Amino acid sequence: MAEDLVLRGGIVVRPDHPEQPMDLLIRDGRIAGLLRPGEPVAAGVPEQSAAGRHVFPGLIDAHVHFGFGEKITEYDTETIYAAQGGFTTILGYFLNNEAYADVYRREQEHARTRCRVDYGFHFSTANELHIRELGSYVADYGVTSFKYFMNFKGEEGRYLGLDGTDDGYLYDLLKESARIGRPTVVCHTENIEVVNRLRRRVQAEGGDTLRDWARSKPPFTESESCVRAMYFAEHLGARVYVPHLSTRLALDEVRRWRARYGEVFIETCPHYLTHTEDSDLGGMGKANPPFRSADDRAAMWEGLADGSIDVVASDHVPRKRATKEKGLWLASQGFPGTATILPVLLSEGYHKGRLSLQQIARVLTAGPAGVFDLAPAKGRIAVGSDADLTLVDLGRERVVSAAELGSWSDYSLYDGWKLKGWPVRTIVRGVTVMDDGKIVGPAGHGRYLHRALGTRSGDPAGARGKG
Ligand SMILES: [Zn+2]
Repeated sequence: MAEDLVLRGGIVVRPDHPEQPMDLLIRDGRIAGLLRPGEPVAAGVPEQSAAGRHVFPGLIDAHVHFGFGEKITEYDTETIYAAQGGFTTILGYFLNNEAYADVYRREQEHARTRCRVDYGFHFSTANELHIRELGSYVADYGVTSFKYFMNFKGEEGRYLGLDGTDDGYLYDLLKESARIGRPTVVCHTENIEVVNRLRRRVQAEGGDTLRDWARSKPPFTESESCVRAMYFAEHLGARVYVPHLSTRLALDEVRRWRARYGEVFIETCPHYLTHTEDSDLGGMGKANPPFRSADDRAAMWEGLADGSIDVVASDHVPRKRATKEKGLWLASQGFPGTATILPVLLSEGYHKGRLSLQQIARVLTAGPAGVFDLAPAKGRIAVGSDADLTLVDLGRERVVSAAELGSWSDYSLYDGWKLKGWPVRTIVRGVTVMDDGKIVGPAGHGRYLHRALGTRSGDPAGARGKG
């Protein structure tokens, strides 16, 4: 159980306020008071020091994958890893062809007793049953976000054991989503029909570098698919979210489109801010979308600075290094990432003068909380919100070593990078889960987040319009 306490001496960072020295009163796992420094509270409430720390709202990683690590125990290992990175909430994707009632029951059995931080689910929709049951997923399981892979068309989908879908499927999915109150439909945007042809050509030429991987999936294949998703969404009155956006071309299309239709949200990932197709990581650096050009990388920083990008999330995939060391075309896609998001944004963004602390807080807290129906309990420091807090030492420098992090995976894209600015304490509903890198919170403290539609007071679409 959370004990009442006063957190003294920290500097509070909120997206919509200048940073401010403030003491925080925590009662019953919630924030009960924003206090002037030193302001007295009732006798007997224990005090803890946050002196020298910047206090962010608990960070939210809205894009992790369940089922790619060691099944069952990954709820333990990957939430330890999240807590080490200052994350108090994670939202994980499932991709199944079966009805989600069974998936939900099975996964909850494993997750409930193991998660260290709060967690929620996104369901991927892949067949007609999923569309029929969409409303019940919202009502029964509190799942208000659904993924659709625009690249799993026909053969591509059947190869993965899915029924195989097409634009007609997307049409019906978005239509049904609009009918039941507009849950967020997360569209993986990729024109696979074009990619398939380009990939065959690149492979025939013997290409096997990250640049060749990128050539097989050029920016056009992301941006065209992105436009299609937005066109469908506007026509059907649906709400769409583009994960892992990676190109200037697609970012510009989203900016243009929002002038006519605002229910479009976008996410980028840390690796599109730090890596390019010229990287020599080979299969280790294989992700979908691929690393892009230096200009695309610059565009992602611009999109964060001007507020176009709503969310930064990891696309965390906790596979082992061995699955990456197979040559480019056979290597698995994706990599672990939750624990290094904040140090990357602080080191490469804040300390290099590209982003303010407020801008970083926005894309890791209020942004995802607004898009994914987690506000007002999550994503802000305000009276009544959950006491989810991330204490940060902006000056701490540390060389990334995957061995010191708790993920089941055994490497990091940032191994050997010296990053400046690290989370030093993670508090979930008033309970300290991580202290100075060590896990001190109990397994099972993490609570399932049953989300509901219609609690979108912190709606980023509205906030964007005002800015
Ligand atoms: Zn992903």
